[in-house]
Amino acid sequence: MDFSLTEEQEMIRGMVREFAEKELKPKAAYHDETKEFPFEILKSLARLGLMGMNIPQEYGGSNVGTTAYSLAITEIAKGCAATAVTTSVTNMVAEVIHEFGTEEVKNKHLPKICSGEYPAGSFALTEPQAGSDAANIRTTAAKDGDSYVLNGQKSFITSGGQSGITVVWAVTDKEAKRGKGISAFVVEKGTPGFIIGKNEEKMGQRASSTNELFFEDCRIPKENLLGQEGDGFKISMMELDGGRIGIASLALGLGYAAIDYATEYAKGREQFGQPIANFQAIQWMVADSYTELDAAQLLVLRASFLKEKKLPFGKEASMAKLFASETAGRVTIKAIQILGGYGYTKEYPVERYHRDVIVTTLYEGTSEIQRHVIARSIFGRKQG
Ligand SMILES: Cc1cc2nc3c(=O)[nH]c(=O)nc-3n(C[C@H](O)[C@H](O)[C@H](O)COP(=O)(O)OP(=O)(O)OC[C@H]3O[C@@H](n4cnc5c(N)ncnc54)[C@H](O)[C@@H]3O)c2cc1C
Repeated sequence: MDFSLTEEQEMIRGMVREFAEKELKPKAAYHDETKEFPFEILKSLARLGLMGMNIPQEYGGSNVGTTAYSLAITEIAKGCAATAVTTSVTNMVAEVIHEFGTEEVKNKHLPKICSGEYPAGSFALTEPQAGSDAANIRTTAAKDGDSYVLNGQKSFITSGGQSGITVVWAVTDKEAKRGKGISAFVVEKGTPGFIIGKNEEKMGQRASSTNELFFEDCRIPKENLLGQEGDGFKISMMELDGGRIGIASLALGLGYAAIDYATEYAKGREQFGQPIANFQAIQWMVADSYTELDAAQLLVLRASFLKEKKLPFGKEASMAKLFASETAGRVTIKAIQILGGYGYTKEYPVERYHRDVIVTTLYEGTSEIQRHVIARSIFGRKQG
């Protein structure tokens, strides 16, 4: 078994690490405080080839593979988690369009996503009554001549207010069996009847915008359908498997950022006449944190490797997301503990890392849903 990264993967990780250190870290507290969407930063990331990492070069992508993508998202998250989630979702949107769009749709939108002409892409599945139970969506898309007409509401859509392109899931056949009557479409920003609602006031990842979206007789060309009518639910589940690698990578970045910071702090902070790093209680929190994060990293890299090799990876992606997000949550709390009272203040970044990490056990499938996916692949579909 070879655990080494390729030269290209090392190079990308190093490049993104440097960018995050110089451009993201110094501004992250500002973006957290103001909720200002990082337009310019995202353009720079696109210029570095980080917006279409699994998209062929003929569509403007860098096509460097899932492992490089995972490493990049981890490094971005060390600098700014809000930027990392925006980048992760944009890559996921590019992939769904690449896999299921017509040649015309791909040629029209992928170069704009990859080049940063679109500030971001968004993925609109969740609705007020359909969170974990995504098959229960009610937004409809009615065929009308050469168009589909969308009506309904979406909630919690990452970059919903800023993205140039949104993939929207809607019911095309109300009579079909559960999950079978859903289709996926691309909807361009500015299409009449596509209305941006409120940006949620969140505890973390605040510069990532999280919007309600409304569709009121929103007419789109029939060519905007992704895949076949009725394939939408299957497409969403497939894409979320890949998305989970992104979120697991993001959680890892926050965990490492927190414990790296706390470790340095422990070397400098003195109590009882010596650095607190001399106390075994502190050393064990640090040792446990790096051990668990490294274990999570191995799960994430395994899922990335399988996806890159086009092997089944759904269960492994869920394991990676479940373990990385829950581990990073524990690690950020330990980091606060190591900083003592200072860790609880906004003077230090560890409280932000903790606020930012909490949502990683919620979006793109909660931890309970990841356990459900893993158990289903162990016990079979009929169980539970
Ligand atoms: C910041 C943020 C960004 C998001 N971005 C997007 C986005 O870009 N696109 C998008 O489509 N959605 C997005 N979401 C939505 C997100 O995917 C959902 O919030 C998530 O899937 C959970 O749905 P819910 O919030 O409705 O919770 P619910 O489904 O109501 O779940 C509530 C609780 O019940 C548990 N639960 C539910 N069903 C089961 C079950 N069968 N077994 C055991 N426990 C269960 C859950 O695990 C959870 O603990 C985002 C959410 C947030 C907070």
